Amino acid sequence: MEWEIVMGLEVHVELATKTKIFCSCTTEFGGAPNTHCCPVCTGMPGTLPVLNRQVVEYAVRAGLALNCDINQYNKFDRKNYFYPDLPKAYQISQLYLPFAHDGKVQLHTKSGRDVTIGIHEIHMEEDAGKLVHSLFGDTTYPDYNRCGVPLIEIVSEPDFRETEEVIAYLTKLKSTFEYLGISDCKMEEGSMRADVNLSVRPKGSTEFGTRTEMKNINSLKAIERAIAFESKRQIELIESGGRVVQETRRWDENKEKTFAMRSKENAQDYRYFPEPDIPPLYITDEELAHYRAICPEFAEAKAARFVSDLGLAQEDAEIIAGSKYLARLFEETNAIANDPAEVRYWMMTQVLYFMNERGVQAEDIKLAPEKFAQFIGIVKAGRINRQVGKQVFESMFFGDDSFDVEAYIKEHDLEIVDDKSLIEETIAAVIAENPKAVEQYKSGQTKICGFFVGQTMKRLKGKADPAAVNAVLAEALKKL
Ligand SMILES: [Zn+2]
Repeated sequence: MEWEIVMGLEVHVELATKTKIFCSCTTEFGGAPNTHCCPVCTGMPGTLPVLNRQVVEYAVRAGLALNCDINQYNKFDRKNYFYPDLPKAYQISQLYLPFAHDGKVQLHTKSGRDVTIGIHEIHMEEDAGKLVHSLFGDTTYPDYNRCGVPLIEIVSEPDFRETEEVIAYLTKLKSTFEYLGISDCKMEEGSMRADVNLSVRPKGSTEFGTRTEMKNINSLKAIERAIAFESKRQIELIESGGRVVQETRRWDENKEKTFAMRSKENAQDYRYFPEPDIPPLYITDEELAHYRAICPEFAEAKAARFVSDLGLAQEDAEIIAGSKYLARLFEETNAIANDPAEVRYWMMTQVLYFMNERGVQAEDIKLAPEKFAQFIGIVKAGRINRQVGKQVFESMFFGDDSFDVEAYIKEHDLEIVDDKSLIEETIAAVIAENPKAVEQYKSGQTKICGFFVGQTMKRLKGKADPAAVNAVLAEALKKL
């Protein structure tokens, strides 16, 4: 039988406000355990939460960007549960009247399909602390620094059918929130976390199967593997006569398996009730109009502009515009260099290579557009060739603020050899020392030209212009 996978996502995104959602503690990542907390975020008796208005702004702007309807009148609710990372024994969240609902996200997947994913709702809530388990013995240490860090939870409709849709969706959320400047969406630091609800059904069926939920998967690669494992597990279970149980499962990245954690709770298990310490929230028409007005240009619009105005290929434009940081480097460098094709060339070859092969994150790129543009000017002036350029670019890319392109080229003696007589002499020497290759050339094996060029470039330490070497070589070979 052919099976279809049905998935829905719940994505938690930490908002990049300076302070927590209900107190003035810092939201900074890290720090010594239990140093970023106070009586409010640790829920001491007698304390009262005060809503951080910046959280509301960031949340509503996220809702607008995901094409949601905004509930201008919305409320907080109290979700009760006991767990050692939650000293209050309840979490302030939104259940009955979340601030945003009925949105949609258009995706363009890797294999080129256009898919629309519905957003069921988005709510604001506070994060819980973290439990650090001792490597030795069975001690667990609670760290409450993260308690009260503002979150939005984006609940999608069960509209995902393929893993690539999930990847495209998370990539798009990250890009959108980066452009809005409301979250850094670092999955590895937990500022964006995805829960995947997954069920399977016979292809063509319209009824949903029983779903399981995989919690807090923290990388795109892990999500791909978790989906592959869990869908296979469910299919095999059903085909062997078993039944899928609705439960929460933990993805173990090292064992590459999911494990049952607990049977899935329903809303009533949390004894939700309206949060008595926070009055209902009202978002005014003026605020909404303002948030719409300050909405930035997002990836698709930017990519389209890179194609129409700057002549980039669609695929390159999508990659560069997909990241706020890459787009900024590209645009600011081009504003000085005024040569989009050349800026694109170095970004798509070198910068992407460093990102894919050396794990450089776009947001961590330090390269200054002024330096990048200066480098492009040197290449275009023919002062270094492209091969040498790669070496210079790499040193510049990983160099610190004090890196000086001109000084580096001078110090390493990289400037191009445009001395025609030196190239002629070198080629003459290469020809004289390789009679066998000359014989091969004379017998019609013209491929041997590559050998002459290679030898010449080697002697000139790679600094000659390959076109000049080819031209001089052609002359020299004619005379043989
Ligand atoms: Zn606090």
